[in-house]
Amino acid sequence: MKKPLGIYVHIPFCIRKCLYCDFLSFSAEETVKERYIKALLEEIEAAPVKFSFEPSEYEVKTIYIGGGTPSCVNEVYINKILCKLNETFFYKKQVSPEKTEDLNITQNRNKAENYKTAPNRDKTETFTKTDACKRADKCINADNKEHEVITEQKEAGEPDSGRNLRKQMIRERNQGIEITIEVNPNTAEYEKFLSYKNAGINRISIGLQSADDEELKMLGRLHTWEEFLSCYEAAERAGFSNINVDIMTALPGQKEETLRDTLCKLTQLSPSHISAYSLILEEGTPFFEMYGKDAGGRFKKTVETADGLNNRKKAVLPSEEEERALYYLVRDELKRHGYNRYEISNFAREGYESRHNTSYWKRVPYLGLGLGASGLINEVRYKNTTDMNTYLANSESRSFFEEEICLSLTDRMEETMFLGLRMSEGVSKAAFSDCYGKSMDEVYGRVLDKLEKEELILNTAERAALTDKGIDYGNYVFSRFVGSAV
Ligand code: SF4
Repeated sequence: MKKPLGIYVHIPFCIRKCLYCDFLSFSAEETVKERYIKALLEEIEAAPVKFSFEPSEYEVKTIYIGGGTPSCVNEVYINKILCKLNETFFYKKQVSPEKTEDLNITQNRNKAENYKTAPNRDKTETFTKTDACKRADKCINADNKEHEVITEQKEAGEPDSGRNLRKQMIRERNQGIEITIEVNPNTAEYEKFLSYKNAGINRISIGLQSADDEELKMLGRLHTWEEFLSCYEAAERAGFSNINVDIMTALPGQKEETLRDTLCKLTQLSPSHISAYSLILEEGTPFFEMYGKDAGGRFKKTVETADGLNNRKKAVLPSEEEERALYYLVRDELKRHGYNRYEISNFAREGYESRHNTSYWKRVPYLGLGLGASGLINEVRYKNTTDMNTYLANSESRSFFEEEICLSLTDRMEETMFLGLRMSEGVSKAAFSDCYGKSMDEVYGRVLDKLEKEELILNTAERAALTDKGIDYGNYVFSRFVGSAV
């Protein structure tokens, strides 16, 4: 039987750097982009020889084109990348249209249109807490109504066929390959999405971060909520129904009202998947300079920013408690709107979990291709060079690795635990035994007992999974597995 394989392709270009970003991304001239794509195609072609495997050993299950902003390069390049991957790895394009989702597309577009044209959607308006909450309640009520209608329909005797059809569609989709591309507003329009569709891409991931234009400006993003909306609608119009939207929490000055408003607007659009990550201050970013540690090693909690000629306002980083409260707000609101939290920061409608990201948490082998890309193949974790000149000069050889770590059995078992515990389903004890020939209880019994007593994990005969409290203390839980295998 063929082994499953994921492929990550990195496109490191962006229009301009966001203030919080430490991803490997930068703006570049067209000629650099052209040379980069050429080198990337060479790297793809050389991959099987470089990693000593026969493409026929593997079945490519997922491809993820990330960045950077992949949509800021010409779509012809994306097509070339996918053609080269197909020539090299012979995967089957997924072509089955998902008919019932066409209906959702129209419904969502109408919803978005209503939202855009509703009188209180003037982007210049400022909201009071009560306004935001009222609107949020309105959204939730509308959503609950929708839920009631569905329930009524179910009770009227149609449910089983509908549910079976949906399950069958999910099964069919999961049999084919999942191909995702990351997109940012203002860099992709309808024609580009059509070209992606024709190239076999079937999942779009759009960076929104916030629906509040002030927050977007503060983050250094290059778009407004309205521009995001146009991008989202163009994707839907081109036939994409599997769309992720990224949002961020714990932003400087972020209040529950603005986050609630973002969630409210977003759930009205009803994307199939939402990722919600907390802002992390990374060294070397303008945000770190503004909010990072001062000379005494303490976090600067406030910063003065110019606001007009004479006014100065303070943006404050949320405290740890406030950050948790914002996370709970996301978790609870998305649950109320029918999203399943299948990983700490990832929420999906049934059957729309990201298969690519799930394969990272399950340690499925994957190739990382492109500048600075990481991979896991033959139990070796590697990272490509982050230096563009080195990359351009050596794209076919193995010599541009910045890191290459051959994982020991203990490393692999540890990874299985701390990556797998990120998922709500946790880690299966049977799968652990199958993989390592030892039971999880034999290897980590003591740690599991302790964490169970601390109410941080659920430890059953079948699996180990984080509790809600365990999610709050995730890093502590994960660290307990490091160096503790028996
Ligand atoms: S668009 Fe994404 S990758 Fe590009 S600078 Fe902003 S956060 Fe970084």
